[in-house]
Amino acid sequence: MRWVLLVYFWLFWVPAQSTDTSFQSLFVVKTDTDNNGGCAQYLDQFETFIAECKELVNAGLQVFEDAAKPVSTREGRVARSYLWTYFRINDDAQAMASVKNYLTRVKDFLGGETSTDKAHLYCNDEWLEKEHLTDAAKDKDGNDRWQDYPDGSRAPYAIFQIPEYREYLFFKNDDGMWEPISDKVPYWSDDLKDYIFDSDYEGGTYCTPAANLAVTQERTTPKTMTFCPRALRSRNYVTRTLGSRAPTRGDSIQVNVPLSGTLYHELFHLVIGNYHTYDLEYLWSKQQKALEINPYQAVKNQDRDYLSLLRENPETYLFFSVGYWYFQQTRWGTVAKPNRRWSFHSGVAELIQ
Ligand SMILES: [Zn+2]
Repeated sequence: MRWVLLVYFWLFWVPAQSTDTSFQSLFVVKTDTDNNGGCAQYLDQFETFIAECKELVNAGLQVFEDAAKPVSTREGRVARSYLWTYFRINDDAQAMASVKNYLTRVKDFLGGETSTDKAHLYCNDEWLEKEHLTDAAKDKDGNDRWQDYPDGSRAPYAIFQIPEYREYLFFKNDDGMWEPISDKVPYWSDDLKDYIFDSDYEGGTYCTPAANLAVTQERTTPKTMTFCPRALRSRNYVTRTLGSRAPTRGDSIQVNVPLSGTLYHELFHLVIGNYHTYDLEYLWSKQQKALEINPYQAVKNQDRDYLSLLRENPETYLFFSVGYWYFQQTRWGTVAKPNRRWSFHSGVAELIQ
């Protein structure tokens, strides 16, 4: 009898597990410390973030279902406006499929579908040790890498001498000579037994500049996501949780983004890859201005135009998803006006019937 029960338990438990994902089932995290990138004090907060990210991606995908409804319906009308305002999509089927695909891939990740090693997620940048280019290079076991000279002597390789690091530290100048990229330094991770290469941050680290919130890097296997502590605390112009602040008429979508928005943004980098999620623009007002001037304008150092990059910009997905999430909420209705919703289909908050 017990065996039968056990079999039934497994039958039901396994499918439930694949949809009911948690923070710790999606990422490798240090749960017992706040040091060296550990997230001990933020575990509950990240569960909330994951739950909110699932709501956001569902809201984003709902736009596509609603946009297929007749334009005579409120949902059909509003959903079409969201697609136009945020992505400049009217009836371009290819662009629509591409944006939907980005959202679907993030949803799949949040549902537990991942084809690569689980990413490591850190809650500060102390998991990295800054080194000098001339320091001895370490191997996958953390031991020095040695080179043998013809005279039989041996010396450790310096980090800058390792061929596979060259593309991160040097560039080929017009004369075909390798020159150091100014400001690039190696950081060693004892967790991954590997290097990443990043700015020197004027003698600081990634989290030193006040504007930095989080970053996803993919040089290492597994990939990593690093949050700065400031991204995990309440701050101006960010709501504590999704919907914890009622919008005010005329508010920009930007001031209604929740703290979990940083994770949502990083998920696009993680799942789609950094090349196809270029951070084109973080500011809603600047983005709108650029679209007004010329959506097809060239973007410095990029091989795609502004509009193409806008449709890959993580922050745009965030604005789009938060905006439509508000439109789906019924809590701001009244007895007299039960269908009243806050909507951001023009980019700013308005109450609609
Ligand atoms: Zn980004």
